[in-house]
Amino acid sequence: MLIAGNWKMYKGPAETAEFCLGLREQELTGVDLVVCPPFVSLAVAVQLLAGTEIAVAAQNVHWDAEGAYTGEVSAEMLRELGVYGAIVGHSERRQYFGETDDTVARRVHAALEAGLFVIACIGETEAERGQGATEDVLRRQLAVLEPDDNLVLAYEPVWAIGTGKTATPGTAQESHAFVKSLLDAPVLYGGSVKPDNAAELLAQPDVDGALVGGASLELESFTAICRAASHS
Ligand code: PEP
Repeated sequence: MLIAGNWKMYKGPAETAEFCLGLREQELTGVDLVVCPPFVSLAVAVQLLAGTEIAVAAQNVHWDAEGAYTGEVSAEMLRELGVYGAIVGHSERRQYFGETDDTVARRVHAALEAGLFVIACIGETEAERGQGATEDVLRRQLAVLEPDDNLVLAYEPVWAIGTGKTATPGTAQESHAFVKSLLDAPVLYGGSVKPDNAAELLAQPDVDGALVGGASLELESFTAICRAASHS
């Protein structure tokens, strides 16, 4: 069971340090943990979580090792910093920053080649679900990816991200089973996972963990979700 906290554009280095020091104190066994701070906070997280089992991942990664790409960061640079992995293709990147299936594929490929662990995000919008297109969307998003020991998928229905609308455990299970029928990889669920719904979602047979946004920002709610995972 893997629980990853996506901090989005929250927590600069000072808040990251405070969170990591608190996280180190927790007794969290039977669950793999990843925190994904913004780029500027990665170094302090790597430093303060060194010697623990908690991994640090970035929220994006470029496909070239270096080059004239203002605002981007490469897998090699992340590796140099001691970062373990990266989220790729989060719906906020797809929605606001022009991320496409093609750029997701390039980022995932480069990150895996460089030895990073990747959490690749997929999921349908509310309109796509309404049109009955969920499976087509997932099929299209997965068509550009290949199984890899260091690849984990995150099924994140876009309508459930940051909205408080969680997929029912049954809906999550159905989508996860479909995703796994297309690509052999562990699948995390993401979309308004909270301490009070985590256990039920994580109990589904094809839910292998969670990618948590809002509830990963507070130590108390994040550790409550991690504890729910360690019991499931
Ligand atoms: C996310 O950012 O990946 C996410 C699932 O956010 P939230 O938990 O806030 O819905």
